[in-house]
Amino acid sequence: MRDKQLYAKILGLKKPWYVEDVELSTSEGEVEVFIQHDGKKACKCSVCDTICPGYDHVIQSWRHLNTCQFKTILVARVPRTNCPEHGVLATRVPWAESGSRYTALFEALIIDWLKEASVKAVGQQMRLSWNAIDGIQQRAVKRGLERRKTKPPKRIAVDETSFQKRHEYVTVVTDHIEGVVTHVSDDRKADSLNEYFDTLSDEEKGGIECVTMDMSKAYIKSVKQNVPEADQRIAFDKFHVAQSLGQAVNKVRIDENVALIKQGSNLLKGTRYNWLTNPENMTVEQWDDFEPLRSSKLKTARAWAIRELAMTLWDYKSRAWAMKAWKRWLSWALRCRLEPVKKVARMIKEHLWGIINAIVLNANNGRAEGINSKIQSLKNRACGYRCRERYKTAIYFHLGGLDLYPSGLNR
Ligand SMILES: [Zn+2]
Repeated sequence: MRDKQLYAKILGLKKPWYVEDVELSTSEGEVEVFIQHDGKKACKCSVCDTICPGYDHVIQSWRHLNTCQFKTILVARVPRTNCPEHGVLATRVPWAESGSRYTALFEALIIDWLKEASVKAVGQQMRLSWNAIDGIQQRAVKRGLERRKTKPPKRIAVDETSFQKRHEYVTVVTDHIEGVVTHVSDDRKADSLNEYFDTLSDEEKGGIECVTMDMSKAYIKSVKQNVPEADQRIAFDKFHVAQSLGQAVNKVRIDENVALIKQGSNLLKGTRYNWLTNPENMTVEQWDDFEPLRSSKLKTARAWAIRELAMTLWDYKSRAWAMKAWKRWLSWALRCRLEPVKKVARMIKEHLWGIINAIVLNANNGRAEGINSKIQSLKNRACGYRCRERYKTAIYFHLGGLDLYPSGLNR
């Protein structure tokens, strides 16, 4: 029958494997492809690859890519070997990885889809359970991590990200140069980051030029324990400083708005967005509309101006000039009589060394920020991850730069 040859070709089957029969059940909407082993050649143990005496056969089946709209199942009579060392085991088949109930091509298709859609959506589309799709994703990540050959890190970023309605955290380490997540660990403690450093040799730790992060005590502690000359390598990036100052501006605005409303003024009402938008992202019209507010005598305008000035202090090349400019900024910010701004200014004063490092090391956090926003969209897509391990798996899957596909693909 022609379809036997056709399926042998589609599956890339070679001797000793051959298609014995193809059955189509239109009522079930299924195609079953029966595969046989000709039994002429001795088989190898699936663990050690030693040619071993045959033992018996087992019937196994795998879900394969659909044939047109028909769900397609491969069924094979697989020889079992009796290895002196590993015992009785089914021999390896060329179309699937050991232990998988799906062919390599099918898993590859699921992996491609998972890059675009959630576990739930892919499961619905493929008529497979959530657990089945989740299992394929987990195996893909495991395989990718085992195959991974990481280069010694030079510039890394550390960040925390929350899940489960913000009650729990994981620590994410990004390789700035490769642009991939290299490590994800539980919590946001010093030990969380120590876990990453424990994967590195002393030589690799010594080769780290720059660790970009927020002003987390725990992370600072861990880098100081692990990286030589840490006080020259730790960089508090612009993104996190901007975020803290932005929150301070927002607090000033909220308080001032309440006070103004009491006096019958709606001046600040509905202006939240104006104060929080980066001027570089405003249109000319927005900028012009914002002019009366930002140049007013409002406290919020003052807080905003202090923040904006801080944002211009990141382009220095020399340590001395950067230090001078930031000290000037600090003397303004610390005396501004706006408590939320002063609070952030005090924090900046205490951490100024790391800000100056960021400037001198040119620790532009753009890439890590990109990764953070991708992590955010992962969370949004999955409506929050309830389970830490799944969340970690998803981060590695999407952002780890891993080779996820099963081996033995005849593509
Ligand atoms: Zn063996």
